[in-house]
Amino acid sequence: MKILVADEISSEGIDALKKAGFELDLRFDITYDELKKIIPNYEGLIVRSRTKVDGEIIKAGVNLRFIGRAGVGLDNIDVKAAEAKGVVVLNTPEIAATSVSELVFGMLLSLVRKISVCDRLMKMGEWPKKFAMGFELKDKTIGIIGIGRIGKEVAKKAKAFGMRVIYYDIIRLNPSVERELGVEYFELDDLLKNSDIVTLHVPLTPQTKYLINEDKFKLMKKGAIIINTSRGAVIDNKALLKYLKNGHLYGACLDVFENEPPKESWEKELISLENVVVTPHIGSMTVEAQRMASILLANKIIEAFGEKSL
Ligand code: NAD
Repeated sequence: MKILVADEISSEGIDALKKAGFELDLRFDITYDELKKIIPNYEGLIVRSRTKVDGEIIKAGVNLRFIGRAGVGLDNIDVKAAEAKGVVVLNTPEIAATSVSELVFGMLLSLVRKISVCDRLMKMGEWPKKFAMGFELKDKTIGIIGIGRIGKEVAKKAKAFGMRVIYYDIIRLNPSVERELGVEYFELDDLLKNSDIVTLHVPLTPQTKYLINEDKFKLMKKGAIIINTSRGAVIDNKALLKYLKNGHLYGACLDVFENEPPKESWEKELISLENVVVTPHIGSMTVEAQRMASILLANKIIEAFGEKSL
């Protein structure tokens, strides 16, 4: 079976697939047009987030049997078009929980201890001590929206900081899991009213698009913080900008954006605010998560389409 690898993935997965007898062509920088031209020659396509696999590519892939995404989000793949053609879509949502939850606390500490601001000002020759009054996480309430794989890891780390952890999810955890994690269930509006820090860990669906909008920001405590490492459109960022500028919120940490990279002038204003810590969608950009994505994807491909297993 011939597989085209269109984005760079860690070597472990590539080696495993070769060992299992697959023929691999590595074309890490392939353009959209080139991909469309050569895709009929392949039964498998492996991508990360760079390569756009839309309906046109899937239509052109007359021999395609699977598309493997080494990573979590399937935003760059037209999953409906693939399924309609009987093309299997595989991804590795299991790999991100540690990396994303560590980033959540990295960004949060950077915001509340003004680490990125101090770093930037000191590099410009300043000694910004008088602007650097921060606060502790201990005894603060963190509200987790979406307590799946990543939300649970955030809960565990928040407990280690001595925080009170409350959560909202469409599926309530079983009471024994709640006890084990030390978390309390709240309805969404109550969670927003009671949290010092709100962190989002839901998928982007029609129900979660702009889940946090102007009405919800109004409910949040004055001086609260919001963290988004899920998907940009889960927050109405225009409303967020308003609630940061009017001083209702203390600050925000954003790893994900509706436009990546942000392009509208109001988006640029949002990311330039001193009380907004931003990163360019790096939640699962760690050596460990990428290595695991490559190995897990290879395993899934071998299990579904190969003869040997790793
Ligand atoms: P998961 O599926 O394990 O958990 C999602 C949780 O959200 C589930 O418990 C589900 O019941 C809940 N949920 C779904 N719809 C809901 C709704 N309408 N209201 C309330 N709760 C709802 O997912 P995960 O692996 O924990 O990932 C969470 C998010 O993180 C996803 O959006 C994912 O795309 C994103 N993510 C971002 C990065 C990054 O690089 N920043 C990396 C990995 C994942």
